[in-house]
Amino acid sequence: MSHRKPLVGGNWKMNTDRTTSADLTRGVVDALKVQTDAEVVVFPPFPYLLSVRAILRDRGSNIRLGAQDVYHKPDGAFTGEVSVSMLKDCGVQVVLAGHSERRHVIGETDEQVNAKVHAVLDAGLDCVLCVGETLEQREAGHTDPVNQRQVRAGLAEVTGDMIERVTIAYEPVWAIGTGKNANPSDAQDVHAKIRKLVAHLFNQDIAERMRIIYGGSLKPDNAAGIFNEPDVDGGLVGGASLKVEDFAGIVRAAAASRP
Ligand code: PEP
Repeated sequence: MSHRKPLVGGNWKMNTDRTTSADLTRGVVDALKVQTDAEVVVFPPFPYLLSVRAILRDRGSNIRLGAQDVYHKPDGAFTGEVSVSMLKDCGVQVVLAGHSERRHVIGETDEQVNAKVHAVLDAGLDCVLCVGETLEQREAGHTDPVNQRQVRAGLAEVTGDMIERVTIAYEPVWAIGTGKNANPSDAQDVHAKIRKLVAHLFNQDIAERMRIIYGGSLKPDNAAGIFNEPDVDGGLVGGASLKVEDFAGIVRAAAASRP
């Protein structure tokens, strides 16, 4: 059994408003109380970071605050962008880089994702690097090369001391928001290959300690099967993170997946 503490992230994407983000935060905090068997992070939209943080703090929650994206430059004439120091100022502890919607809807490149990873790590925050193949890539038999390329590029020039703060999220694009999820053995296969690559790029010890989480239509009724795979260390949750009971059920499945 793995010694890695599972991590579950709730990616709210461009959902909620001032009232519903607060209700959702209170609901998740109350449903989970203080979780010790899984690390939990919520990723609200930027405008609600401060109010979500205030609720987490007022309620003494150990749920961590995450941001869905960041711009890699420290400041300046970049209209509409948000820097890592701004996120830090709002209490953000974890930042997503390279989510598939950023890659495929907004058009972010591997190089831009890598610049974001560096900005986040340089600032002392934790980073969740998202990778995953599209349906076309999967059907063409390119699942492994695509994931390997995105991991290599995303982690380029990341040093051994910084890698400790990186989690990789394997999120097959065809499974995100579609109701289709990878079956547990397919997810395990990709996770094991990613871990092997991390061992090659860094070392075995780092690879053993790195959390590799799964994302793609996770629900309370399919989470346990995936989380029980030895190389799956929790999940990144989109749609189901907007419903308190579904998200709490997924967190409980992650917490129960390790002794
Ligand atoms: C995601 O956005 O990271 C995700 C996995 O979404 P969903 O759970 O809705 O598939």
